[in-house]
Amino acid sequence: MSSCDGEPPIVSNHSRGVAVDVTLMQDERTIDMGTEINDLTIRAWHLSSGLTQKQKTNRHTLLAIMTIAGFSPIESEWWHYELPNSVNRFEIFDSIGEN
Ligand SMILES: [Zn+2]
Repeated sequence: MSSCDGEPPIVSNHSRGVAVDVTLMQDERTIDMGTEINDLTIRAWHLSSGLTQKQKTNRHTLLAIMTIAGFSPIESEWWHYELPNSVNRFEIFDSIGEN
């Protein structure tokens, strides 16, 4: 697989179907996690400084739910979880909806 310019494509475990981006909701509203999903600043790291105690508790709650479900976190994105040891176990999907 390569892009049209010959460079290898950027591949994430989302492309393999083994990663999810999740947050917590209550009463149809997202809970305060300290940043929005896809905020790639240092505040998105699980153990970032400057978070309120409530934001830390919310992140730890999500971490507990996801790890009990069998997913592993990545250090730099509080919302990203993936199946452990999944690299190279599943093919990369480059299209959706084709049967
Ligand atoms: Zn992700």
